[in-house]
Amino acid sequence: MTETWHEAAGAIHLHSDFSDGSLPIPEIAAIASTKDLDFLLFSDHHTLEPKRRGLEGWHGRVLVLAGYEINDADDHNHYLAFRLDREVEAGLPAGEYVRRVKAAGGIGIIAHPAEKRSFSEAYPPYPWTEWDSDDFDGIEIWNQMSEWLEGIKLTNVAWRILHPLRSIRYPVWETLARWDALNRRRRVIGIGGIDVHAKRVKILGLIPVEIYPYKVQFKSIRTHILTRKPLVLDGVPRLSFREAEAEVYDALTSGRCFIVNHSLGSGEGFHFRAEDNASEYVMGSRIKIKSRIAFRCEIPHQADIRLMKDGRICVQCKKGRFLDHETRMPGVYRIEVFRKRKGWIYSNPIVVLGEGGQN
Ligand SMILES: [Zn+2]
Ligand SMILES: [Zn+2]
Repeated sequence: MTETWHEAAGAIHLHSDFSDGSLPIPEIAAIASTKDLDFLLFSDHHTLEPKRRGLEGWHGRVLVLAGYEINDADDHNHYLAFRLDREVEAGLPAGEYVRRVKAAGGIGIIAHPAEKRSFSEAYPPYPWTEWDSDDFDGIEIWNQMSEWLEGIKLTNVAWRILHPLRSIRYPVWETLARWDALNRRRRVIGIGGIDVHAKRVKILGLIPVEIYPYKVQFKSIRTHILTRKPLVLDGVPRLSFREAEAEVYDALTSGRCFIVNHSLGSGEGFHFRAEDNASEYVMGSRIKIKSRIAFRCEIPHQADIRLMKDGRICVQCKKGRFLDHETRMPGVYRIEVFRKRKGWIYSNPIVVLGEGGQN
């Protein structure tokens, strides 16, 4: 049976003035509505205060949801927690907050897992080290702020501040490899985070600049989801807040999502599906193989499409809009699309399991 899916575009991992972001949530939502975004997932440090203040809901055509970002005593293991009514106890080790977020029915996503930067003591890396924990739902496979900071040197800092979007290239290879390996065992969703703060600083103590303003960062990394009912049609919300919230969280936890570097063009209309004799499957599906599986990918503009299997290129199409492939081989299959030699679209995987349910 073919199900009709609706697409919505969102920005995930936002900081507001409830922590170290520079604007209030209503102002950020108003900016997002001018950039054709449908939903925003806020994750201020250590607080769900935006939720308690009633800031979740529709802000015009933009759905605002609030989770929060947790870290351990060493300021490592940053974790985005959504769908929670209250914060978990503060000061816990990472394995414990991962467990508690899950126990409370929340959604937990590992933030910027592979940060390595060393250019400034003021901005140290915040990597994930608690890989023994297995209760997380997802990984931020692309964190725009991490990538921007990681490539900074004294010689290019001014260029990076003036042209922030040009520094976006692709997700960290190590994170993608880990994501593929995890998906061999269980579903681990991938999202793109912007980690926007829009900090105001003074260069040389004099010239005021805003690092990565919200309106610029909304043109960087987006996470698109596939929902059962449309969230917004012709700029008008179609669902109650509660229905829309459920649609967004259901799409994310099911892995019905893909990540777009919007600075290279809109990813709207991207499709990655699989079909066997019985059904059609979307991203996030785990299919027990019964017959030949046919993959089909369609992208909105010509670009280089790669079907990845277990982290390696399985088939590719240069400068095209379609890629088709049939297989009987188990594996973790996902799409990477490149444009202008940069990463443009990254799908969540469709996993083909062998006869015994093994990959
Ligand atoms: Zn963080
Ligand atoms: Zn953050």
